[in-house]
Amino acid sequence: MLLNKKSVLTEKFAEIMDLKNLFPDEPLSRHTSFRIGGPAAFYAICENETELKDAIRICKEENVKFFLLGNGTNVLAADEGYDGVILRLGGDFNLISIREDINDGSAFITSGAGVALTQLSMYALKKGFTGLEFAHGIPGSVGGGIFMNAGAYGGELNDTLVSVKVMAPDGEIKEVTKEEAEMGYRTSRFEKTGEFILSGTFHLKVYPRIPIRTMMEEYKRRRIEKQPLDLPSAGSAFKRPEGNFAGKLIEEAGLKGFKVGGAAVSEKHAGFIVNTDNATAADVEAVIENVREKVYKNSGVMLEPEIRILK
Ligand SMILES: Cc1cc2nc3c(=O)[nH]c(=O)nc-3n(C[C@H](O)[C@H](O)[C@H](O)COP(=O)(O)OP(=O)(O)OC[C@H]3O[C@@H](n4cnc5c(N)ncnc54)[C@H](O)[C@@H]3O)c2cc1C
Repeated sequence: MLLNKKSVLTEKFAEIMDLKNLFPDEPLSRHTSFRIGGPAAFYAICENETELKDAIRICKEENVKFFLLGNGTNVLAADEGYDGVILRLGGDFNLISIREDINDGSAFITSGAGVALTQLSMYALKKGFTGLEFAHGIPGSVGGGIFMNAGAYGGELNDTLVSVKVMAPDGEIKEVTKEEAEMGYRTSRFEKTGEFILSGTFHLKVYPRIPIRTMMEEYKRRRIEKQPLDLPSAGSAFKRPEGNFAGKLIEEAGLKGFKVGGAAVSEKHAGFIVNTDNATAADVEAVIENVREKVYKNSGVMLEPEIRILK
């Protein structure tokens, strides 16, 4: 991005938000769980809806591309970085509220898109409501989780989701029902519409805290046992193919430990690609392509990447 453009952006952003939330030339490797990615020309944390709306307006006025990043746990950021504005959600987007229904003992929990999924599940536990135990340990945010319809151990956000508050690309704020959100396996309508998820409301049932906690601890134990949590990754690299498991197909193709540069198919869980030693995005992409090709040759199944590439 031209220096001139950067200074115009800095000036305009400084008018709408606190300077402490603006970062020119911010390395994306600091904001992705893969610990990979060159600098974003500009990186801004929006603390409320007005700031987000104004930030998008400025990007459009200045004709620069922008991307809303959640916790960066499902993205691979390019080595050359991002020649545009990376937006993050902070401040008001980290709030959670609850409305209990005394008639049936259920509760509607509304969570800002910036809240971590683990934090939301802990909140539900603290209040004594069941339905989000599976989300404990998924390192993404509520916004990224709804976008991806995150799930684990037989549960997914769609199970308890009631509605999603969004900002349309033109700045209009509206409530989208669960049906309208078109949640599918690791997908939602938000992939197509470009809407920004501001918050999500979940309907949970009252439940004793001890079994909720036990379930969460069990999921944590299973993650530690099965997943390579000691190495940077973006979780499962591929979507689960119909009637099969990506990890199993990769292992059967003899690719456990397969390596390009600093990126490798995990020895512990073949569904994960891990950054073993200063991997570049190009290394990870090469592993993805090799795995797809070799698994296809071995089993006839073409794996679809779950990881999203940020360029
Ligand atoms: C160790 C590990 C374990 C994991 N385990 C699981 C698991 O069990 N189950 C599972 O489903 N996933 C898992 N993941 C993947 C990841 O955590 C989820 O996909 C999560 O939902 C991504 O959320 P995020 O906030 O990190 O989104 P990001 O990775 O930052 O973004 C993902 C996409 O969501 C979009 N997005 C983010 N926030 C918003 C918003 N507010 N509005 C609109 N779009 C938005 C981004 O633009 C991007 O396209 C794992 C990842 C790791 C590293």
